[in-house]
Amino acid sequence: MSNIYSLAPDEAVERVAHLVKCFHQPLLEAGVKIDVLTVADEEGESCLKLHGNPAYAVAKIVSSKDRVKGAGDCEIVIDEPSYTTLSDASKDALLDHEIHHFELKIKAKTGRVKLDENGRPKLGIRKHDHDFGWFTLIAKRHGAASIECRQATDLLRGGRQTYFAFALDGDAQPALEAGAPDTIRFSPAALASLKADK
Ligand SMILES: [Zn+2]
Repeated sequence: MSNIYSLAPDEAVERVAHLVKCFHQPLLEAGVKIDVLTVADEEGESCLKLHGNPAYAVAKIVSSKDRVKGAGDCEIVIDEPSYTTLSDASKDALLDHEIHHFELKIKAKTGRVKLDENGRPKLGIRKHDHDFGWFTLIAKRHGAASIECRQATDLLRGGRQTYFAFALDGDAQPALEAGAPDTIRFSPAALASLKADK
């Protein structure tokens, strides 16, 4: 089964542009061009994977060769079937996550952005603050001696407010699905105002 790529709909492209404008000013100032694509399999089902696991979206730096051919400096590929199930707030959070992966390479001496041979900004992929590879079986078998339990404990102690506020408030799941109330700033109305800006 092959993966079918398409240029992302305006809704997603504009959402990325708005998020860059709000939260990623250095990327905006450096003129970083982000291509936004969607992917699904031939039957319109989810197919995007990262390190073998299903992913909602992935971020990648575009090679200098492909930049020369007219591509952007980096790209976000969205798993279309998964994306369409998300609420507006979750779409914003997902795309902001992917944009946050793009890190400008900066010259230590001058503080300026490093450029490639064609004058395009050089980028790296910013790593996650937390990356977990856990086996429940190992956590159960070895308890506090396992990396699983140690990392979980560290996260609970150090990131209680950031990561567990929803659960601790008795609200079992953060609102992820389409139709969930829009609790954050990028409501459809905010996106409409962005269109009006242009
Ligand atoms: Zn990520």
